[in-house]
Amino acid sequence: MMERQKRIRTPRNPQPKEWMASELSQQYVASYKPFNFVDGEGVRCSLYVSGCLFACPGCYNKAAQNFRYGTPYTRELEDQIITDLSEDYCQGLTLLGGEPFVNTQVCLSLVDRIRDTYAWTKDIWSWTGYTWDELMLESDDKLELLSKIDILVDGRFELPKKDLTLQFRGSSNQRIIDVQKSLSTGEVVLWDKLLK
Ligand code: SF4
Repeated sequence: MMERQKRIRTPRNPQPKEWMASELSQQYVASYKPFNFVDGEGVRCSLYVSGCLFACPGCYNKAAQNFRYGTPYTRELEDQIITDLSEDYCQGLTLLGGEPFVNTQVCLSLVDRIRDTYAWTKDIWSWTGYTWDELMLESDDKLELLSKIDILVDGRFELPKKDLTLQFRGSSNQRIIDVQKSLSTGEVVLWDKLLK
């Protein structure tokens, strides 16, 4: 009898503009965690949006791959986040998921309000399963969100490259990117406080 070959699962690879927030997002959030120390530099408020199609084996938040996981995003929650960010000791907002870039309605609403209220005195980090190069070929809403954030942690979680010693990343393919410097120079510039 032939030995059955073990199939190695890998994350999915979308075509440019294949996954559109306008078609996919249900505008749900998996959770909101104010004043945490783990989702980027300093004390941060973290919003976990629901829905992701990358299907990375070993995903840290599998339940949030479902676009209807959690509860609908509301104006009340947005008001609460804006209030929480007013604390001096709170450095900024972090967007995670799920996939923020297929939930751009939620993320842009919040990011625009933060920029209106605090300008750039609060920083905004986002995690994404897209790589920087993939995002450069993406839809206007994704590029708009990118243009309004400070730091992007990019790329799928790749289980064979898992490394728990890395700063703010799960696998060694992922990068912590200074978005504004990268957009202005046209090439990926890493976060200047990167230690490992
Ligand atoms: S991109 Fe992130 S949320 Fe999406 S499947 Fe991969 S690890 Fe999970």
